Amino acid sequence: MDALLWTTALAAAIALGLGLPRWRLQRALARPMPPAWRAILRANIPIYPRMAPDLQRQLHRLVQQFLHQKKFVGCAGQEIDDEVRLTIAGQACLLLLNRPSRVFPELHTVLVYPTAFVVPRKQVDAAGVVTEARQDLLGESWGDGRVVLSWDHVLRGARDWSAGQNVVLHEFAHQLDSESGANNGAPYLGSRASYQNWAAVLSRAFERLREDAMFQQQSVLDHYGASSPAEFFAVATETFFEKPYQMAERHPELYEEFLKYYRVDPRDWLTPPEPVEHTGSVYGVWQ
Ligand SMILES: [Zn+2]
Repeated sequence: MDALLWTTALAAAIALGLGLPRWRLQRALARPMPPAWRAILRANIPIYPRMAPDLQRQLHRLVQQFLHQKKFVGCAGQEIDDEVRLTIAGQACLLLLNRPSRVFPELHTVLVYPTAFVVPRKQVDAAGVVTEARQDLLGESWGDGRVVLSWDHVLRGARDWSAGQNVVLHEFAHQLDSESGANNGAPYLGSRASYQNWAAVLSRAFERLREDAMFQQQSVLDHYGASSPAEFFAVATETFFEKPYQMAERHPELYEEFLKYYRVDPRDWLTPPEPVEHTGSVYGVWQ
């Protein structure tokens, strides 16, 4: 084979190699979502049936891309079936609706345990004392492209939508956060002005939550969010999707920022909660 032929063959091979994954993805996305998959979304994600048809179609496409590109690994005997894959991907992709972002580009593997998993933790304090601890975890998000989840808690968090706790939304919010280069509670926002506004509003809400946590005051945001700005963003994401009415009422500025970022209004999919009756008088207080 002469030099020209070699060059042509090489170029064709490269084009094929580069084009093939894309072609496979297009082919996967061109297929309609199987009815059995939609049935799983309906059964396990209570807000899915209440979404407008165009958003449902967007979600199908995102989920199909997620399932095409990410690997699921069952740990400690956990089986990976369509219910596991759809329930996780369906919730994770809610965070991407109406946005131009790619489908968690850094993520390659989702590890699933049957229930809370125990990890050894080594902590070194200022005096150099090393403490070994074993911690039960429901989920973890790693910057190296892995998310670890407890299936038990995934299912519980999904089915009980208004509880305000959702391990999938939490861990995938961390993934969005890390796309901006650091896990610091500021995902990729685009303009400088957007970052300034985001930082001002979230800092105020973070300080307020720290005070609530310190004085054991009830808050619509879980006190765990007071541990760091990254945890605050993940916790506020759970609240935004699961308790939108309560968050809009108690933290209107924060809710506004999340509306701009997530580009959906979860109030469209949920019924306003009943005001809670207290003894003596009635307060319009959300739990
Ligand atoms: Zn977290």
